[in-house]
Amino acid sequence: MDIQEVMGSVSSRKEDCIIFGLRRSQDSCPEVELKSMTTSTERERWQKKRQYSPQELELALKVLESVRSGAEVRQALRANPLPAGRGFLAKHALVAAYRRMVEKGEWEEDPVLLSKIRMKPIRTLSGVTTITILTKPHPCPGECIFCPSEAGLPQSYLSDEPGARRGVENHFDPYLQVSSRLTALHQVGHPTEKIELLILGGSWSAYPADYREWFIRRCFEALNEENPLDDQGPVSLAEVQARNVNGVHRNVGLVIETRPDLVTLEGLLELRRQGVTKIQIGVQSMDDEILLLNRRGHTAEEAETAVALIRAAGYKVVVHWMPNLLGATTESDREDFRRLWREGGLQPDELKIYPCQLLESAELYRYWQAGDYQPYSEETLISLIADVKLEVPRFCRINRVIRDIPSPLVVEGNRNTSLRQDVALFLKQRGQQCQCIRCREIRYGKVDAESLTLTDQVYLAGNAEEHFLSFNTPGDKIVGFLRLSLPKVQSNPAIPDLHEAAIIREVHVYGQSLEVGSEQVGAAQHIGLGTQLLQQAERIARDRGYLGLAVISAVGTRNYYADRGFELGQLYMRKSLE
Ligand code: SF4
Ligand SMILES: [Zn+2]
Repeated sequence: MDIQEVMGSVSSRKEDCIIFGLRRSQDSCPEVELKSMTTSTERERWQKKRQYSPQELELALKVLESVRSGAEVRQALRANPLPAGRGFLAKHALVAAYRRMVEKGEWEEDPVLLSKIRMKPIRTLSGVTTITILTKPHPCPGECIFCPSEAGLPQSYLSDEPGARRGVENHFDPYLQVSSRLTALHQVGHPTEKIELLILGGSWSAYPADYREWFIRRCFEALNEENPLDDQGPVSLAEVQARNVNGVHRNVGLVIETRPDLVTLEGLLELRRQGVTKIQIGVQSMDDEILLLNRRGHTAEEAETAVALIRAAGYKVVVHWMPNLLGATTESDREDFRRLWREGGLQPDELKIYPCQLLESAELYRYWQAGDYQPYSEETLISLIADVKLEVPRFCRINRVIRDIPSPLVVEGNRNTSLRQDVALFLKQRGQQCQCIRCREIRYGKVDAESLTLTDQVYLAGNAEEHFLSFNTPGDKIVGFLRLSLPKVQSNPAIPDLHEAAIIREVHVYGQSLEVGSEQVGAAQHIGLGTQLLQQAERIARDRGYLGLAVISAVGTRNYYADRGFELGQLYMRKSLE
């Protein structure tokens, strides 16, 4: 068993958002009517491209044979062109031919071959496949002046963003979104055994309780490939989750997004029952004046309290930070960024930097028209992001530095959505390098277990002393890590599983997410690094006198922890250290 609780490189679009432009039929009832798949032109085109003639499949087999005998995929494709100058086969045709051979029993599963022919291999390189799902439009309690809106979409989402588009195409139905994505990922050769679900679309906590329960149940039912029509009467979420523990598509991470003022202990307990493991929170700024000016509706202190509570409950925390808000300058942004890393403060595990972008549908547009707001130019933004990146601690992962808004929609200011590469280049020219997890993740390549060094970075965050344990290569690449929280005070008496316990908030070991049962010698997930990290965490917790070691496990990682001595409690898994 090699399942780790891992979180891949998520590709979320927006933070803590929901919608104004409701669709009546959906708002009145959580049971969103099950509709057939959309027949949009785009979907038809996508499907059409994935229908192969016998000649194409035959050609694909030839290509596969030559890749199996050692040829490069590109070379093999070039050597076998389509007839009549029609170009070359796409990689998904190779995956289809491969799948057929395996299904017919003519070929054994060959994960190495599959890893060569899959499209966008980087997507699952972090060790897990992420599926993004959008909730239905719903009124937002926020009034942020920078927030765009588009009819028929959750507040702040734009239909041109890929994640949002899939939500619309599937009428925001969770089952359809998950199952159609599973099919598509399988068709392009990605493994679908370990799935992280990323629920976007709004402040999750602001949706009605019955909708939230239904939405998560439908996601799990889609992963379990059961109850497609939702016609089996009352089904309990706990039962559906129990079936996912050994299911075909196991859930190894579940992420929601919210706002600081909506975080409560009660809400966090409910999220835990629903299987949530990570929370994205829109902080945007730690300057009360800026928050007020942009009508965020919460203070910096509220953000600190919320993040401390989230951490005390064992969740991973992703903070969204927004430079270039109304009233900010590049100097004040640099100062504001430092507040994220105050000792005992937020110290987020992951960070999304979404520079404010000027869109016509946002109220900020009027400030710009009146000459009271000016977006940063591309050059200014690159230099600002480069500077702040250098201040990011090694325990944090910067997931994004720009939101993927189609450039024609941006009224003025930066339109470059591949800013990350430009920032990296800029830093390189200055002889500097970002130290965040993302920039040090081992990507391709084998790992020599003997050469790895285990380090323990200790820092204070919220009411906890955090230990970031990581295995690093001699070249300072990160191969695996564990986040251990030692609560300074027993701040959560309402959570019995956490009583007198140190908390493991994350275990992540890199390596291409493999099909279950397959082996790939040297891949980081297969040399017991997860177990070694757990043992080290246990030593630390024991030395510090904790009576137990708790872990916030996703439903699909319960077996992994059970095999390592953890027992399922009410909401967490726990190992006694007494
Ligand atoms: S108004 Fe604010 S809280 Fe609401 S969706 Fe927009 S950014 Fe998010
Ligand atoms: Zn980085």
